Amino acid sequence: MSTRAFERVALIGVGLIGSSLARVLRRDSPQTAIVACARSAETLDTVRRLGLADETSNDPAASVAGADLVVIATPLSAYAEIGRRIAPALRDGAIVTDVGSVKGAAIAALSPELPSRIHFVPGHPVAGTEHSGPEAGFAELFQDRWCILTPPPGTAPEAVAKITLLWEEAGMRVVTMEAEHHDKVLAVTSHLPHLIAYTIVGTATELGEDLQSEVVAFSAGGFRDFTRIAASDPVMWRDIFLENREAVLELLQRFSEDLTALQRAIRRGDGETLHKWFTRTRAIRRSIIEAKQA
Ligand code: NAP
Repeated sequence: MSTRAFERVALIGVGLIGSSLARVLRRDSPQTAIVACARSAETLDTVRRLGLADETSNDPAASVAGADLVVIATPLSAYAEIGRRIAPALRDGAIVTDVGSVKGAAIAALSPELPSRIHFVPGHPVAGTEHSGPEAGFAELFQDRWCILTPPPGTAPEAVAKITLLWEEAGMRVVTMEAEHHDKVLAVTSHLPHLIAYTIVGTATELGEDLQSEVVAFSAGGFRDFTRIAASDPVMWRDIFLENREAVLELLQRFSEDLTALQRAIRRGDGETLHKWFTRTRAIRRSIIEAKQA
């Protein structure tokens, strides 16, 4: 059993993630037929020009007809509507998976729509860049990154095994966990950092014009790294914060308490507290490098 086990794959959404998976399938499993679905004629034209699919369509239901694997790779806010539209057209025994960044929301939107004659294996390849669209994708995006699957209790183990293999063949390490746990972990590793980046870059754009030009000139002092993160897709990130509200708000509360503690240390000239804090965070960076996730 391998990726080659899939005869016909429907990609609903062919942006950064969907098109990267299309490239992996093209590279490793040329006999697999790929149907790509997007809303705009422009995206579908680009997909055809890049040779990423055998068929293209703007109709999710028509796209999934006959597919043994359906991958939903759109922003989360489109999920419920897509689930409703594809449900009657899904082939018996098909596997539906997704790549959305908030798993509780993905399951809440799709599970009620999908029929019991198919298998639903929610997933999240934790790999990305700040770029969007089919031209931004590349087959190596997933290499050596983690993919988290969050199958609800009762999901057929064979379906989970097939999706595990799909991402392993794309170069990923695959782990399974509960959706709620995934959303808490990702709030720390991804969602809060993005919120902080969006905030600081927003704050800088509110500064007076004279300061703004200097912010650009001297951005290598740290600001530049935030601007990369804050350039991420606005629709995708709007959806993530709306859909992972509880976990993000809880973490934000802790973050503001820590920020207040550091603020107090600076005001009081408490160098020891600052030094201790920064020494601890430096060690975290080292462990990420050692885990080859830098
Ligand atoms: P993207 O590059 O913006 O692409 C989104 C794709 O979805 C486009 O092809 C878009 O088509 C299509 N789409 C949007 N609404 C649709 C609808 N109603 N029906 C059919 N197609 C629709 O997005 P992405 O970065 O690949 O992200 C896709 C998903 O992956 C998101 O749920 C995100 O949470 C998750 N994810 C993203 C990253 C990352 O770093 N980017 C990492 C891991 C997971 P049009 O161009 O025609 O609008």
